[in-house]
Parts: sequence; C-alpha cells; structure tokens
Amino acid sequence: MKRAPSTRGRLVTAVDGPGTRLTYFLAGCPLRCLYCHNPDTWQMRRGTRATADEVLTRVRRYSHVLNASGGGLTISGGEPLLQPDFVARIFRGAKEMGIHTALDTSGFLGARASNEPARRHRPGAARREVGRP
Ligand code: SF4
Repeated sequence: MKRAPSTRGRLVTAVDGPGTRLTYFLAGCPLRCLYCHNPDTWQMRRGTRATADEVLTRVRRYSHVLNASGGGLTISGGEPLLQPDFVARIFRGAKEMGIHTALDTSGFLGARASNEPARRHRPGAARREVGRP
C-alpha cells in the first residue's frame, strides 16, 4: 500500500472540531499564510510517510475515547486535499468504525487536488466547524 506524507497525529481537545480529536496533520501546502501556525507542514518532503491502514490502526486504538467524548478524527495540514485519495481512504475507514470525521482545509485546491473528500462531507457541517472569517 502506498505511503503518503503525513507529519504527525496528535490527540488534542477543544480544537480542530467537537469533543476530543485525533488530528492528523498532512504534509504539503501551496500557500504561505502570514498567520500560519503550522509552517512545519509546508514541505511535503519533510513529512513522515504512513499508509492509510497505519493511520486507521491508530484511530481504532483511540476510538473509545473519541466516541465517548463526542469527538473524532480531524485531518488537517498543511493542505490535506493535496492528497485526496489518502484522505478519502482514511475517512472511509473511520466512517466504517463509526468515528466522526472533520476536514480542515484552506479551500484552496491546487492543480493536483480533488474536492471529492470534501464533497463526501456534509458541506453544512464543514462550514460550522470552520466558522466565519
Ligand atoms: S493554508 Fe493553512 S497550512 Fe497552508 S500556509 Fe495557510 S494556514 Fe498554513
């Protein structure tokens, strides 16, 4: 199975979505926002490679605490939609486990991106998580 660049998975609370979240920060972003708090994710080559199955193994390990807190899995970055197939595979596996998912995207779709993972999400839910600028 193909290994995609992700930087790290972090168990956090109160940010990146409702409840306790396991957040994966995928490497690679075409933007250079002045306010970026994750500049270590900009370069895709700096990411640690992982397969979707490896990520899902970790999600499964935390599934009880994620579900008990009303939390779930968030995929952030970087710009996660630069790796749409990887994101789609992880979300599909998480949904099969009954895990809530959230996508943290800038909405900037580069030439290599697809909006398929975002389309599979409920757009209203995504807007609620992102909030107003
Ligand atoms: S889109 Fe996000 S990760 Fe990319 S530079 Fe802007 S704030 Fe940073």
